[in-house]
Amino acid sequence: YHAKKKGNSYLFFNDTMNRQAVKRLQIENLMRFGLKEDHFEVYYQPKMNIRTGKLTGMEALVRFITPKKGIISPGVFIPIAEETGQIIEIGEVVLNKACRDVKKWLDDGLFSGRVAVNLSAKQFSLPDLTSRIDVILQKNELPSYFLELEITEGTVMDDPKDAIAIMRSLSARGIHLAMDDFGTGYSSLAYLKQFPLNTLKVDKAFIDDMKTERGRNMVDSIVTIAHNLDLHVVAEGVEQADQIEILKKLNCETVQGYYYSKPLSKDEFTEFLKQQQTKAAPSLITKQKKA
Ligand code: C2E
Ligand code: MG
Ligand code: MG
Ligand code: MG
Repeated sequence: YHAKKKGNSYLFFNDTMNRQAVKRLQIENLMRFGLKEDHFEVYYQPKMNIRTGKLTGMEALVRFITPKKGIISPGVFIPIAEETGQIIEIGEVVLNKACRDVKKWLDDGLFSGRVAVNLSAKQFSLPDLTSRIDVILQKNELPSYFLELEITEGTVMDDPKDAIAIMRSLSARGIHLAMDDFGTGYSSLAYLKQFPLNTLKVDKAFIDDMKTERGRNMVDSIVTIAHNLDLHVVAEGVEQADQIEILKKLNCETVQGYYYSKPLSKDEFTEFLKQQQTKAAPSLITKQKKA
């Protein structure tokens, strides 16, 4: 193709493109190897009730742990996996491990809520999505009640009519559905009302913006819309105590973020669940005494 400038800028441009293509290919190969060698792990981030400070659920977040390159961030490999289609296989690994872990916590009496798993657009539009999910749930002997799927606006707005049908079939199984990163995509309010959602997750960008009055008003409005549509609200990326105070005033019921905990490995999360239980014990005792 044409290159008007034959100086450094063209060479630089070409070189950058090359380097990006090489890096992409490297990651694609690493992912193929990683899928074979079981290098994809699932971490869990607690979702907490803002009033009681107790655990209400958790989000499963994939971690790509390579022996040679260390941990590769989802922000880096997920977009590439989406393009290559590897996200389908990775997504199934995550779903399978999340179901396995929650089943164990359930059996051990440590947790009896839902695990939220992120579902990519590619997975969402698989014609046999629901049967694939059924198979994974059955294999792990986990009732669908314990599963929540997080989808983004981009996933459902591509073909909203079709998306509604898919969401209904998931919802009919008792699987909960959450709209992730709400407000950052291009979803329309007209559709929001029609989607069979349970939860709306307010993106971190809005939470960060609560420093200003307009930013707080924005979150206030989102929470109000969600509640008027009978949706549960989760604030994402909450890091500071003053954000908790504001969100309490705005009637947001659930928070997720570094303020409570970063995503934890399976073993770390098991410890977190045990700590939660000892925290819950005193109030149980007083309740029993009163009765
Ligand atoms: P997400 O689903 O919106 O997940 C929330 C992200 O915010 C996670 O990043 C989490 O670690 C991070 N986070 C949580 N609290 C805080 C906080 O207080 N401060 C800051 N700065 N960050 C916080 P992570 O794990 O790097 O994942 C990034 C994105 O990659 C996810 O965004 C999701 O879109 C995607 N992703 C992660 N795991 C999976 C998966 O298993 N499947 C698919 N399809 N996508 C995934
Ligand atoms: Mg998510
Ligand atoms: Mg999110
Ligand atoms: Mg996000």
